[in-house]
Amino acid sequence: MKQELIINKIIKENNRINYIYEARGKWSDLLVKSEILFLEFDTNIEAVPDSIAIIPLLCNILPICWVFNLNITIDELDDVFYSNIDKIKDGYIKMYPEINFGGNLDVKKTIKNDYITKGSAVLFSGGVDAFNTLICHIDEKPALITVWGSDIPLSDEKGWSVVDKHHKKTANDFDIKYHAIKTNFRSFLNCNMLSNYISKRIDGSWWHEFQHGIGLIGLTAPLAYIERYKIVYIASSFTIADLGNYTCASDPTIDNHLKHSSCNTIHDGYEFNRQDKIHNICNYVDKTNKSIKLRVCWESTGGKNCCECEKCCRTMLGILTEKNDPNKFGFNFNNNIRKKMMKTVRPFAKYNHSRQYSEMQRQFIKNYKTTEIPKDLLWFSKLKIINKKPFFIVLKDKALYILKKIFSKIKNN
Ligand SMILES: [Zn+2]
Repeated sequence: MKQELIINKIIKENNRINYIYEARGKWSDLLVKSEILFLEFDTNIEAVPDSIAIIPLLCNILPICWVFNLNITIDELDDVFYSNIDKIKDGYIKMYPEINFGGNLDVKKTIKNDYITKGSAVLFSGGVDAFNTLICHIDEKPALITVWGSDIPLSDEKGWSVVDKHHKKTANDFDIKYHAIKTNFRSFLNCNMLSNYISKRIDGSWWHEFQHGIGLIGLTAPLAYIERYKIVYIASSFTIADLGNYTCASDPTIDNHLKHSSCNTIHDGYEFNRQDKIHNICNYVDKTNKSIKLRVCWESTGGKNCCECEKCCRTMLGILTEKNDPNKFGFNFNNNIRKKMMKTVRPFAKYNHSRQYSEMQRQFIKNYKTTEIPKDLLWFSKLKIINKKPFFIVLKDKALYILKKIFSKIKNN
């Protein structure tokens, strides 16, 4: 049987796109049968040509086509997007040399869709990276685009309502536009099977290693066409100093080649580390008196910061490093949390986020003269940060990785 995905129809009705496709061979295992991909915008998208409307689907399945050596057949595709596909694929090939990339995309016709541009947009989650990108490009008055179905699941209506309200308010405060996209782009893929396959070859999940950058950027294509965007910014999580020490689907070598019609993508803020970004945000708030409420937490549901997890603590400590008050930035920072902070942070200052903590500590010592360090933060200036894993831990990780591989082989046989 031919391993082929045939896209039969793109239904555009009002603000919604539904994709009708036929999955053959391996494709029928990797896509959830009962759930076709849909996208809902907050604006009418019927004027979007099929050659653009196909991009959200393609961006979320092209990595599958490459990794599993499968075929995709479509009628038409934007010529700019089409001519950059090899560069996108090349980014993945260089990121994951241990994986063989094959597959074939059969396009019957390429279409020119250029337009006169009139603005830009930022993929906006409300975190440190996204806010840094927003304030760095605020002169362009970029629109905010938030995706419901990304870190907030479609089932978390309460969480989404909090995030939606927060982003609407942010857009209002900054006098810019805000758009929300609702989509099942994570759940229409058989993520367990995809992650299981790649975890035997590399360390990480399908979402983080293959889907989230290209997948999120792809979703914006119909809106970019309607709104005539010149640039869609996606904020970096890693920095150039991390180069060679991470793998991730969202990277300048991949994201910057995602182009269509007259719209480019910029993987933004790669030159800044996380502390630089917190510094930029604090500085901006001090200068402008604007209100910035960060949303950084992955542990809590309901769209708020739990103020207890490592990520919340790392961000609050970053704000304290800038001699600023976490309460001003969307955290509930009280004495109780102050006391617990050291315990939460300490294990992560070894290996996991050691580079980020090192940068933060360097800045912390620079910003507070020794005599000025508040008593309850003295621990951070003295915290021993271990960047390099000791040899026995490297060995233990390697052994665990091999055991995991053996067990999964036995399980699959
Ligand atoms: Zn948290």
